[in-house]
Amino acid sequence: MKTYRRHSCTRTHRTYRTMAQCIWPRAVWIIGNGEFASVAWCRALTIQLHHTLEAAEEAKAAIDSTGCGGACRGDHEIVRLAL
Ligand SMILES: [Zn+2]
Ligand SMILES: [Zn+2]
Repeated sequence: MKTYRRHSCTRTHRTYRTMAQCIWPRAVWIIGNGEFASVAWCRALTIQLHHTLEAAEEAKAAIDSTGCGGACRGDHEIVRLAL
C-alpha cells in the first residue's frame, strides 16, 4: 500500500480531507474522512476516505465488484495518507 506524506505543497493540512483535495485536485469528488483512501483512477477520479483499513478494503471490494461509475476500468487502489 502506498503512503502519501510529502507532496508538492508546504501547507500543513489539519484534516485528511483537505490533504486529499490537495493531492488530487482533479478528483471529481472526495467523500468521507480518515487516513485510508480508496482511490478510483477510472474515467472520473473519485476518492473515498475511511478511518480504518478494513472500511477502505470493503469500499474497494464493493467498487471492484460493481464498478465505480459509468466507465469503470477496475483501476482502484488503497492509499494511506500521513498528515
Ligand atoms: Zn498539500
Ligand atoms: Zn473504477
